[in-house]
Amino acid sequence: MNHLAPLLLPWFAGNKRDLPWRRDREPYHVWLSEIMLQQTRVEAVRGYYSRFLQALPDIASLAEAPEDLLLKLWEGLGYYSRARNLQKAARIIRELHGGSFPRDYAAIRALPGIGDYTAGAISSICFDAPRAAVDGNVLRVLSRYRADHGDISLPQTKKAAARALEAVYPPEQCGDFTQALMELGATVCLPNGAPLCESCPLKARCRAKALGCQRELPVKAPKKPRKSRARTVLILLLGEKIALCRRPETGLLAGLWQLPDTEGSLSAREALELAERWGLHPTQLLQMQEKRHVFTHVTWEMRGYYIRCSAEGELSWFDRSLLQTQIGLPTAYRQFLDTFIV
Ligand code: SF4
Repeated sequence: MNHLAPLLLPWFAGNKRDLPWRRDREPYHVWLSEIMLQQTRVEAVRGYYSRFLQALPDIASLAEAPEDLLLKLWEGLGYYSRARNLQKAARIIRELHGGSFPRDYAAIRALPGIGDYTAGAISSICFDAPRAAVDGNVLRVLSRYRADHGDISLPQTKKAAARALEAVYPPEQCGDFTQALMELGATVCLPNGAPLCESCPLKARCRAKALGCQRELPVKAPKKPRKSRARTVLILLLGEKIALCRRPETGLLAGLWQLPDTEGSLSAREALELAERWGLHPTQLLQMQEKRHVFTHVTWEMRGYYIRCSAEGELSWFDRSLLQTQIGLPTAYRQFLDTFIV
């Protein structure tokens, strides 16, 4: 482990990617990027990151942002609780920490939406504290470097990795060390059995490479298969308006806007009858489209009926242009509007 920092730091200095959130060590920027990067690829995050900062340039503006604006800025990134937690944390920073991001690890870790990984990333990158940030990339590097066959889906494997790393954090270069580990996992020690060992600064010391077992590592218990659920979505049109409703306050996509839907796979006649029961007086069935959306634990197999109506019923109606510019709609539903041309 003592060789890690001396090998990684010079490599990182010469090979790091130019990423917008690496241009300074401002905690708000590092925090926002780390939250966005959870479950999302770097290339996808770039645009979101700059749009978000343009609209909400600091913690104070995030704390005060209207929810619709916040969710619109997050639209398409998924896992919307991340956006809500960002705002909750910004409000706590305003109220408990005078508007300045806390420096103390325990205070950072106590903020909503911040787990061990993000707290370690912010502490080391922004405040040069010897705190590890262990995500899937870093676990993969370490499993291979040490030829460790521990199951990386177990919390104890993650904790042991963090302890082992924290013992070798280089003083005054903690942020670079954290980022070098992440960078190596993202660009060289790649997942799915295909590490680029010949380009790796660790190759002379890597036990998995020496033993020829890189492709077997890391060990990860197989995930339970995702459940599949059928849903029927109604895209209801009244002139230039489209109907939306709010999702329940708990569960998947809690509290967000959605196109009205129901469980199961309805026939066209059943869909029209449902619209009638909702008091919408359907006048014309325009088309049907089938879509799929994959969440972490469930896949929705969706059938969408586009129906013209002549009454508003109990739903909320939005102008199509407003829906594009101001209302955040989860991708599962948004995809029905993106492919719809009258
Ligand atoms: S030598 Fe290969 S397996 Fe070992 S850390 Fe480098 S890329 Fe990963």
